[in-house]
Amino acid sequence: MVSFQELGLVNTKELFRKAYDGGYAVPAFNFVFTEQLQAIIDACIELQSPVIIQASAHTCENMGIEYVRHLVSASMERVAAKNSPIQVALNLDHGLRFEDCKRCIENGFSSVMIDGSAKEFSENIAISRQVVELAHPHHVCVEGELGILSGKEGEVSHSESKYTDPKAVKEFVEASGVDSLAISIGSCHGVVKIVADEDGNFPPLRFDILKEIEESLPGFPIVLHGSSCIYPEYVEMINRHGGHLTAAQGIPEEQVKRAAESAVCKINVASDGWIAATAAARKALWENPETIDPRTFLKASRAEMTRLYIRKIQQVMGSAGKC
Ligand SMILES: [Zn+2]
Repeated sequence: MVSFQELGLVNTKELFRKAYDGGYAVPAFNFVFTEQLQAIIDACIELQSPVIIQASAHTCENMGIEYVRHLVSASMERVAAKNSPIQVALNLDHGLRFEDCKRCIENGFSSVMIDGSAKEFSENIAISRQVVELAHPHHVCVEGELGILSGKEGEVSHSESKYTDPKAVKEFVEASGVDSLAISIGSCHGVVKIVADEDGNFPPLRFDILKEIEESLPGFPIVLHGSSCIYPEYVEMINRHGGHLTAAQGIPEEQVKRAAESAVCKINVASDGWIAATAAARKALWENPETIDPRTFLKASRAEMTRLYIRKIQQVMGSAGKC
């Protein structure tokens, strides 16, 4: 067992309390390769932003959980070497099984998400409760989910979304004991975040549902998944350099920003990081067709992701200088 305190990490309790009171959101950035984690840390050091680093169960499996732990530990050495005051949490994104959460808690994660959203209400409460009982004695925080986001992300895939029922959240939170709650108000996983209605218009996030949830859980931190903006400039960069990305549609920045100013204390960003990395890599390879050096695209990807995360913190999260 390696505790998160040994790695220099914090749990999300204090981060969320300050974000709730301060009207901003803590960025939760997913990483799937080393340069992405470096870009996240560089951006957060530069802007003095707290951050939640996220690895999915899929990433832990692909990369090897020991690598995840050591890369995050190395990131904390980087933070210390730069004399940076930023606080960093490490969260398991979309743990589907109790065992996923257990393994992460044993490997220095300071937070775990148990995603029981596809289960019956009572089963979701039961599995979330089970994880809470394991996590809390180690001061590890637990994120639950109620409602379903459509789209695909790793092992998580749903064709239809189901909005969170605002009348059910209080009972869920009280019975499960979770520390934060992911809700579904119209965002999606993957690169198609909003589906056009019959008239071809993109409906906005359901802020009316968010408001009802806030009212029934005053002071409680809410989490928004599937909140990438899918910037058109990256889609164009991909398509201009040999890619083929159609129908990509993100959530407009101003809507995510509005959510950040509410009870939403954590906003997940996975796709925007991937798309920036892939756009920069495609461009670098396109412009250097003779290269065999992976650093050509890795360096370009890292630099582009750093710019992306800086933009997110400044224009969407409002978390710069909040550590
Ligand atoms: Zn998610």
